[in-house]
Amino acid sequence: MHEMSIAMQVVEIAVASIPPDLKGARVERVNLKIGKLSAVVPDSLQFCFSVAIESTLLEGAELFIEEVPVLAACGRCSHRWTIDAPVFCCPQCRSANLEILTGRELDIESIELYQEDENDDRLAP
Ligand SMILES: [Zn+2]
Repeated sequence: MHEMSIAMQVVEIAVASIPPDLKGARVERVNLKIGKLSAVVPDSLQFCFSVAIESTLLEGAELFIEEVPVLAACGRCSHRWTIDAPVFCCPQCRSANLEILTGRELDIESIELYQEDENDDRLAP
């Protein structure tokens, strides 16, 4: 399963990016950007993420996925447009010489940590 290896990678990168002096902090949310051409199924990635974070610093964190549209640029007339149908030629000059600018990304946009208030850390009776 391709989403599982991505989820594990995301967890690894996210854990590594927590500053050393905040190692005790809990991660509330991981914001991920996924290009529509990256062939990742968001629902499947969500599921794999929830499995991959077990017993890690990310346990309990939420994954937020933002899908990035596919942006193309024509190599002939420099026209730029968003591809939403599998038609890979320039709508302006019909050239098939194009460059995919966005849509393949898989980036961790940001990681949000809980602002922990020590007084809130009460034990249940
Ligand atoms: Zn063109």
